[in-house]
Amino acid sequence: MTVAGHTQLAQRISRDVGMEFHGHAGTESNGDRWIRLTPAAVPEGHGFDVKVQMTWRRLRLSVELQRFAGELVRAMGESKEAGRNTFRTILEESVARGATVQFGVNDNAVQFDDESLWGKGWKRIELRMSKRLPGFDGAATAEELGMIRRWTRRFVAALLAIAPLEAQETPSGEALEGFREGAAKVTRTVRYERDRRNRTAAIAIHGTACLACGLEFGSVYGEVADGFIEVHHTVPLAKVGEGYIVNPAKDLVPLCPNCHAVAHRRDPPFTVDEITELLRE
Ligand SMILES: [Zn+2]
Ligand SMILES: [Zn+2]
Repeated sequence: MTVAGHTQLAQRISRDVGMEFHGHAGTESNGDRWIRLTPAAVPEGHGFDVKVQMTWRRLRLSVELQRFAGELVRAMGESKEAGRNTFRTILEESVARGATVQFGVNDNAVQFDDESLWGKGWKRIELRMSKRLPGFDGAATAEELGMIRRWTRRFVAALLAIAPLEAQETPSGEALEGFREGAAKVTRTVRYERDRRNRTAAIAIHGTACLACGLEFGSVYGEVADGFIEVHHTVPLAKVGEGYIVNPAKDLVPLCPNCHAVAHRRDPPFTVDEITELLRE
């Protein structure tokens, strides 16, 4: 991967997860190339790097704790239920798509969906994801960069679901004006739809193309619109209590502003399948 490759990956991941990452690149002694992504706003030494290794037909992702990451790791182990659910959901979706995930806490291998591993004084963690990619040979084509981006996004989103790092505002869910819903309902919907971690998780799982019409902004409008998409909350608000925990795989879907506006022409909103059907007619 070229210099442009790691800068481009860092920019795209920053955009996709709503947090800025710097990118560095290098080569292992065996010739495999790697890219390291570092959260830009975390004080030096107190966070983690995400290492992306590109080998023949395989992509490997891992987290590398920095020297003084103890505080952060301890806080990750004390994540609230919403964060744990999102972490587990993203990893489950990744496994369902063929990835291998290894997770370790305090040097013990653990199952990432084991409920008992939380709140137990985390000091060190290990998280690795490996995905076989047929046809992947590190040629740095747009297609390969797309595959690297999708898998890196999943890995980073899982970490960010439980890592209490400062977030930047992300532009999303702006097109809610004019929806015929009560003000309180809209406020709550917007909160779900704008929550950075929900949004990041939804994009990590579903991608950035509109789920109803397939529009991918980057491929239509070019680089300036790359990664732009809104996130819609599908669960009817009447069924959602205050303590409801969003499942980013089932409850959140990426929609373009047009399809999103159409979804809210009805309460409860039109489903993705219904909108797709409307487009077909
Ligand atoms: Zn659409
Ligand atoms: Zn919506």
